[in-house]
Amino acid sequence: MPHHLPHDESVIWVTGAASGIGRATAQMLADQGAKVLATDVAVDQLSWADGINNIESLVCDVTEEAANVAAVGAAIERFGKLTGAALNAGVAGAAPIDDPNGVEVLRLSLEVNLVGVVHGIRAALPEFRSNGGGAFTVTASTSGIGGDPAMWTYNAAKGAVINLVRSLGVELAHENIRVNAVAPGPTETGMTQGLLADGPNPVSESLRKRVPMQRWGLATEQAAAHCFLLSAQASFITGAILPVDGGITANTGQFDPMGRLGQ
Ligand code: NAD
Repeated sequence: MPHHLPHDESVIWVTGAASGIGRATAQMLADQGAKVLATDVAVDQLSWADGINNIESLVCDVTEEAANVAAVGAAIERFGKLTGAALNAGVAGAAPIDDPNGVEVLRLSLEVNLVGVVHGIRAALPEFRSNGGGAFTVTASTSGIGGDPAMWTYNAAKGAVINLVRSLGVELAHENIRVNAVAPGPTETGMTQGLLADGPNPVSESLRKRVPMQRWGLATEQAAAHCFLLSAQASFITGAILPVDGGITANTGQFDPMGRLGQ
């Protein structure tokens, strides 16, 4: 039997929900009628959810196995079950390959962007199994599909999480447990606000021009992809990596997107 709960019967856990894509996803799911457990390590910034009826917030550092187990327990205690999870928490990180702290930066990137997702999936699995199915989404990145200069730590972690999604998509499919990833391109969130805070600058503009749609994405555009992949509409989709990137990963990279259009 396919797993096809409409959002008004869903209870969904969103990690990294204090800011950016996670916050937008939690809000959009709640707007669509889901009950939401919104968790983050940044306790103060979770207060945006205070007083919203369908959203419960909780501190959870995704790198701690016990905190993931506690989050699943909290969702069940508050809402009676858990049917989906958007495992979205992540950290950026940049360092050239010979940076003295490079291995430390790599460890942190792997710990949050990869091991954190593994903890989340392992924590929710028994509950999904007891419900006869469930849906996971992961926030990967275009940076998990190709490489970027001086971003090898992030590229390695996001590349790993993409293949984790494929692997578990296959392993869990027969149990009606779907595992998919959203792969955002440059998106206006807390992670990128340092780049955008003072308006367009050479780095933000060079990124924007690499996007065939010639603009940055919005957190709500990433949230919409999570909501779709978690929903009944995606009931036969698993192990998929959905780029939400204005066309970046469609480009071979041989040409600047506007380079042969006379502009
Ligand atoms: P953001 O900084 O606005 O949100 C990330 C959230 O994750 C923050 O609230 C942060 O506190 C939380 N977080 C970090 N470490 C955590 C931990 N150990 N435990 C729990 N929560 C933790 O940034 P965002 O852009 O919304 O990031 C969401 C996801 O999107 C990340 O996985 C990121 O790698 C990915 N992503 C972002 C972009 C972009 O351009 N913004 C592009 C590709 C992928």
